[in-house]
Amino acid sequence: MNSPMKFDFQEKAAARRVKVLFPLPLFKAYDYLAPFEAAPAPGSFVRAPFGPREVVGVVWPEPADISVPAEKLKAIAEVIDAPPLAPAVLDFLAWAARYTMFPLGSVLRMTMRAGDAASAPKAQTGYAPTGDAPARMTPQRQKVLDLAGADAATAPMTAADLAAAAGVSDGVVRGLAKSGALRAVEIDPDPPFDAPDLAAPGPHLSEDQQYAADALSEPIHAGRHQTLLIDGVTGSGKTEVYLEAVAAALRRDETAQALILIPEIALTVPFLKRVEERFNAAPAPWHSDMTSAARRRVWRRVAEGQARLVVGARSALFLPFPDLRLIVVDEEHDNAYKQEDGVIYHARDLAVARGARAGFPVILASATPSLETVVNIDEGRYGAVGLPSRFADAAMPDIGLIGMREDPPDAGAWLSPVLAREVDANLSAGEQSLLFLNRRGYAPLTLCRRCGHKMTAPDSDTMLVEHRFENRLVCHHTGFSMEKPAACPNCNAVGSLAPCGPGVERVAEEAAARWPDAAIGVLSSDTAPGARAVREILSDMAAGDIDILIATQVAAKGHHFPGLTLVGVVDADLGLAGGDLRAAERTYQLLAQVTGRAGRGEKPGRALLQTYQPEAAVFQALKTGDRNAFLAAEAEGRKRAGFPPYGRLAAILLRGRNEPALHDAAKALRAAAPAGDGVAVLGPARAPIYRLRGEARMRFLVKARRDVNIQAYLDDWLPKVKMPSSVRRVVDIDPYSFL
Ligand code: ADP
Repeated sequence: MNSPMKFDFQEKAAARRVKVLFPLPLFKAYDYLAPFEAAPAPGSFVRAPFGPREVVGVVWPEPADISVPAEKLKAIAEVIDAPPLAPAVLDFLAWAARYTMFPLGSVLRMTMRAGDAASAPKAQTGYAPTGDAPARMTPQRQKVLDLAGADAATAPMTAADLAAAAGVSDGVVRGLAKSGALRAVEIDPDPPFDAPDLAAPGPHLSEDQQYAADALSEPIHAGRHQTLLIDGVTGSGKTEVYLEAVAAALRRDETAQALILIPEIALTVPFLKRVEERFNAAPAPWHSDMTSAARRRVWRRVAEGQARLVVGARSALFLPFPDLRLIVVDEEHDNAYKQEDGVIYHARDLAVARGARAGFPVILASATPSLETVVNIDEGRYGAVGLPSRFADAAMPDIGLIGMREDPPDAGAWLSPVLAREVDANLSAGEQSLLFLNRRGYAPLTLCRRCGHKMTAPDSDTMLVEHRFENRLVCHHTGFSMEKPAACPNCNAVGSLAPCGPGVERVAEEAAARWPDAAIGVLSSDTAPGARAVREILSDMAAGDIDILIATQVAAKGHHFPGLTLVGVVDADLGLAGGDLRAAERTYQLLAQVTGRAGRGEKPGRALLQTYQPEAAVFQALKTGDRNAFLAAEAEGRKRAGFPPYGRLAAILLRGRNEPALHDAAKALRAAAPAGDGVAVLGPARAPIYRLRGEARMRFLVKARRDVNIQAYLDDWLPKVKMPSSVRRVVDIDPYSFL
């Protein structure tokens, strides 16, 4: 029989033990001894020895294993003074790891991305004016003093920031401090975000908009989970409406937080401004184009509950919100929500799970909702509200099709005479045009006219794309690039390498030749490297300073160009080629988005699509605007094939440099696949891009009935075969890319 003493001792020992999860590719948390004085709560950040070093991890909410003798356990070195991750965050991370089948530690790492954010940063020294004039005044010193702030409301800046802002050296600032004109003050390197002004009035909503806003706010007031789609054409005011829901969520109480996810970094600046105007306070931004200091600030302020509204890219979902009450997923259909590197996940689907598990509503917004979402609505899992028309009676653009067989461009040109005439007319009327081609560079294929050799990447089975501005050949899958050779590497013929097909740069060349007096802009992620350059072109376009913009999908989404009245799609068929199961759906979404840029101002807009298959259902649907008929036909096709959302898919990719080992591993994996009711394993097959970055790649596709737990099936199967060290195995649940 256990003596009470012993029982007590065991309980104490158990209380001192905690599980710690590290942000490393680990499937589980490890046991540690907590400090005597205080066992840290689950979610606490701790530093603990792991292998040869100390690593910052998180106390994980699982009971410790008391069968391990205490003397075998290492002790936690330090409990970090930072707010612990909330139970809802821990629960979400655990669920996301199970769903995506990635290691729990890798998923935790996404929450700890801001590096050392959990540790409070060192206070910095800032400089504030004392009011005394320096003994000697120079223009440089005056500049610094002006910037340092005449009034007390100006936050003190560091010497480096002040000097940079004034365009002087740090020495000038230090000299002023020495002379007594500036004094050193301690400043918080992570200033808090202003609280949104929830009393600020929104715009006066139309009747439809008010109805939609009320519908979105209902689950917010009720404090329950529901996923709701706001379905409205581009320009109908979806953003205005969901910002009302954000206000309603934040008004519930002072700690409530909300997150708006947007798909494109290029969109963030104008969008942040818009949100700032609505709430008289800048929201906290989160995206990959931020400095590490800016990230740390957002991370810490979110963790402390002092950033109440975050606008971010997909990874913002993993921020340490202590009290998240609403997520909005804008442009929910956008593929940019699918993260393909590292932990593979779909941010929309994870956002819905986050809300469902924590009991708060999730709002999806789109003019072209995904079939997944439409089926969820049809089957009653999600709700929907519609905004049937553009705000202020702005008309939808008129969409026409140009059959490229009947109206072909002249030899060597890419714009058909019909489209060119429309651009002519627009130029004469002083209106803006957008020529859209979703292909970067000058030409997608470079071919030797003499021997037929195609220029491919040296370490990948991919075509090199000519970029004429830089005179380079570039691989769009890996970023590899080389100077364009003067001679064919196969037959040595000089000057024989010829570009085939158009990219945006080539269309821009044609436009410059046709319309020499027009102001022409070219926009793709590489003609305008960096988010800043992209923003500049976009704001020039919005200001009406560009007559013809030639652009890839960077310009397709969300932008408001009031003077744009004509959109010409140079190759509407592009996204259909080599199509995967979502090719038509994606084409519809992209072209509806890009044509929706036209006519958002006072003048009506029109769009023309150049296609070789004008009879295809997707183009007919765009022309007639009958989205629902198109979706119904798509749904029928998917249902028949058992594809998502009517069936489940998981992709398994094996890759490695040692080809025989790779093929053996693929065979062994195939042989170990258990028979499962309602599950079919397809493959292994060579991936469409078989060699990438020097590695060979084999694929499996697991296709299951919708009621099958595909993760359980994979859990039963995959551990049966140990991969050789030269082979990497990657699981992609709900794959969107099949290359
Ligand atoms: P969507 O998000 O559906 O594309 P937006 O919310 O961007 O539409 O609205 C399109 C344009 O109409 C924006 O410039 C927006 O400010 C304006 N707008 C929409 N609703 C209103 C309203 N109720 N009052 C004033 N302006 C509005």
